[in-house]
Amino acid sequence: MTASPQQLLELERRCMWYPFTQMQTYAAEEPLVIAGGEGPYLIDAAGRRYLDGVASLWTNVHGHRVPAIDAAIRAQLERIAHSTLLGLTHPPAIELAGRLIALAPPGLTRVFYSDNGSTAVEVALKMALQFWRQTTPPQPRKQRFVSFREGYHGDTLGAVSVGGIDLFHARYGPLLFPTLKVHGAFCYRCHLQESFPACRLRCVDELEAVLARQAEEIAAVVIEPLVQGAGGMIVAPPGHLARVRDLCRRYDVLLIADEVAVGCGRTGTFFACEQEGVAPDLLAMGKGVAAGYLPLAATLTTERIYEAFLGAPAEQKTFFHGHTFTGNPLACAAALASLDLFEKTNLVQAVREKSALLAAWLQPLRRRRSVGDIRQRGLLAGIELVRQRDSRAPFPPELTIGHRVTLAARRRGAIVRPLGHVVVLMPPLAIEPDLLRELVDIVDQAIAEAADPLAKE
Ligand SMILES: *Cc1c(COP(=O)(O)O)cnc(C)c1O
Repeated sequence: MTASPQQLLELERRCMWYPFTQMQTYAAEEPLVIAGGEGPYLIDAAGRRYLDGVASLWTNVHGHRVPAIDAAIRAQLERIAHSTLLGLTHPPAIELAGRLIALAPPGLTRVFYSDNGSTAVEVALKMALQFWRQTTPPQPRKQRFVSFREGYHGDTLGAVSVGGIDLFHARYGPLLFPTLKVHGAFCYRCHLQESFPACRLRCVDELEAVLARQAEEIAAVVIEPLVQGAGGMIVAPPGHLARVRDLCRRYDVLLIADEVAVGCGRTGTFFACEQEGVAPDLLAMGKGVAAGYLPLAATLTTERIYEAFLGAPAEQKTFFHGHTFTGNPLACAAALASLDLFEKTNLVQAVREKSALLAAWLQPLRRRRSVGDIRQRGLLAGIELVRQRDSRAPFPPELTIGHRVTLAARRRGAIVRPLGHVVVLMPPLAIEPDLLRELVDIVDQAIAEAADPLAKE
């Protein structure tokens, strides 16, 4: 790199366009240029350190610049940086597949790689559809998908079709395939005005009604297990996932678990499905799989589904799908080093312990008058800000309340990124307890400064 800091800034203003960013607002703010990282910190161009409170978009696991992962990538670089999985194979992909299957819920036996969470979901959707055409006896009418409101599965068109966040998804309607949408379990804003556990998960009845009515045309139900992430860190009550699994089995519909956000230890088990003893038919993983170092994703599935794709070439039962950088060797090497660290540091158990600490430390934030709800599972938390607590009235969007809190937290040395009016905490899993505490304190103060004064009694 040869550009001076001044040249970089000038170029940035002239050439860049960022994801999920209103550029008009952004252009009026100072850019934060991240020049480095170390452990749980991001370091800006001036050398200032910030706690990485959202794990670099929910991906980072062991921190930044972890010697063992850096070394594994370098070692792979000495061999080869990239080679294709279309017709060839390579050791890191094979070894990683074996390791993932060993960790996966029972029945998942096959790993199909891609390179981001959206494509891992696309793969699951296409596999499900094609499975029903090729199973014996074929059931080609099963080609629709059921998904949940507030669900998020990525930004490519298939993933958007099964998405349920109107703000992100509604405008692309003309490009999408139709899906069946049901309510999830959003207890803080329950559409049935029920409360758990007295409700006995009555919200799931809607899914059952859809399946009872038209299971013979439904290929699969798509769910984010335990927590709907981008929809606002909506934590499902216990038993919800298991009920959905039972219904899928009863009505002979596949279950696709999108573990892109919740997988890789985030919720206190390696896969979130484990917590309800659920084994899905297809499982999508991404984000943390290569420890937040490199893009890598995978779709895991069962022998039953895999076998439906076997046949002579002329039968054309092949799965006609594959991305150029599918299963990149450097990314697989990073993922293998990450799994070694999971074992060595007993990280999943550590997440459970820090999860209990986080719950205790978040509790006092409820005293803030702008805090409506705090939702947490493992090292994943969402703090829903409200204008008026009793009525649960949201802040008007033009106040960009989440963004205000983000800027206040940044001034105090932590990077967080909101989902609308929900402040998200998703630190690297390996964060030390004292720094986790510091992160919570910073967010508490940021809410006191930026949100409380705008809330009403
Ligand atoms: C982030 C996310 C995706 C999309 O992953 P990308 O790598 O951004 O394509 C899909 N599903 C869930 C649950 C996610 O959180």
